[in-house]
Formats: sequence, C-alpha cells, structure tokens
Amino acid sequence: MKNCDQFRELIEAYALGALDPHDRAALEAHLATGCPECAKAVEEARWLITQLAYTAPDAAPSDMLKGRLMQTVRAEAQSLGKPHVMPTKSAVPFWLWAAVAALLLFSIYSAWNTRHLQDEIRQANERAAALQAERQRIEVQLADLKRDAIMMDPASHKIALWGGEHAHPETLEAKWHSQLGVCIMGDKVPMPSANHVLQVWFIPKKEGAKPMPSAMVRPDASGKIMIYVSAPPDSMDNTKAIAITEEPAGGSGWPTMPILWSGNVT
Ligand SMILES: [Zn+2]
Repeated sequence: MKNCDQFRELIEAYALGALDPHDRAALEAHLATGCPECAKAVEEARWLITQLAYTAPDAAPSDMLKGRLMQTVRAEAQSLGKPHVMPTKSAVPFWLWAAVAALLLFSIYSAWNTRHLQDEIRQANERAAALQAERQRIEVQLADLKRDAIMMDPASHKIALWGGEHAHPETLEAKWHSQLGVCIMGDKVPMPSANHVLQVWFIPKKEGAKPMPSAMVRPDASGKIMIYVSAPPDSMDNTKAIAITEEPAGGSGWPTMPILWSGNVT
C-alpha cells in the first residue's frame, strides 16, 4: 500500500490524463478511501490545468505535447528492454512529468504571449498610422490657412514677377508676409517640358551671393500654379528678388536655365 507522499508524485500526471493504467487504478483506489489531502491535490492540479486551458488560444499544443511525451516515454521503456509495455511509475520519474508540466505551461504561455504581443503591436501600428494621417491632414490644413492669411493680410508685400527676355505674357504674383512666408500664384502658366519643373529662387541683396534654391512645382492641367514657401531662405530686407526658372525634375542647386519670371522684392 502506497502512502500519500508517493501518490502526490502522480497527481500532476493524473490530472493531465497521462498516468499509466496501473498507477491510475492505484491512485483512484486511494482517492476512493476519501483521503482529503490527495483529493485536494487532485483538485488543485485540475484547477491549474483548467486555468492553462483558459489562457491557451487553442488546445492543440497540449495534445501535441502529450503525444510527444508518450513517444519519449515509450522510447525510454523500449530502451530499457520492455517493448509494448506501458511505462510504470519507476520508468517515468516525477522529474519527467514536472518537465512536461513546465514545458506545457511555457508553450501555452508563449503562444498566448506571442499572440497577445502581435495584437498589441498591430494595434500600436494602427494607432501610429492614424496619428500620422491626422498629422499630415492638419499640416495640409495649416499650410492652406497660412496661404489664405498671406493672401488676405494687407501687411503682405506684393511682388509682381514679370516674364524676362523669354517673355511669358502672363505675370505671376507673389505675396510675402514677414511671419507667414511667401505665396506665388499664376494662371495660364505654360507646362514645363517633360521631367522638368518650375523652380523658385531667392536672390540675396548681398553682392556676389548665390541664388538660394527653393520650392518646385508643375502647373495643374489648367496652367494654374500656387507655390507656398513657409520658410524663405532669408528675410525680405536681405532679399533682392524672386526668380523662377525651368529645371530638371528634382530641382537644381544653381539655376541652369534662363530666368522665366522675376520680380524685385523692394
Ligand atoms: Zn492520500
């Protein structure tokens, strides 16, 4: 007759449903005697497994692990020269069951944790994308509002950009607001050649200073342009003129083509 301590070693495996028939029968016979300590231990082990089952995304890992364990156990039994015999308690030491329980717990936990983390990462990415989209929307709105303010504020300095020797009949108009930046607009602007853009230049007053490259644009289908430069390279006082040339797409660091329009700032 086994004592309670010996049965205690079997209870985890019993609760997992992985105990061999001989030991199961012995344990069940002991439980039938109404031992309160062993009954409580079985209850606790079952509760733990129930908890594992609740936290597990699905039950597959436990069956898979149990199958793997039984293969291991059978292989051990065969290596001990006892083929086709279900392992007895001595062939399946408690540490093996403990290792299985730990592995099962870890497997279920990591599966749950991975899924949980993936879900959190996905949600965080969605929130970041939504914030990014919102920020872009606000930036566009802000640029529109600044542009409108430049157009309406009487404090904005008006600059007419005239066609040069390669004269375009249409004059472009620029408005420079000391705080809000520069707007340049025009209608019926001829389309630049393919892979070319219209590029804005700020020409400094300082003798010998190089033209400062700025915004690039292509007119819309109706020939309309609306260029907004929120941060001109220098102040109005230090700028002699605004000019526009046609440049290869991507713009140039130095004007490579004749000036199409220009206007003196002061
Ligand atoms: Zn007992």
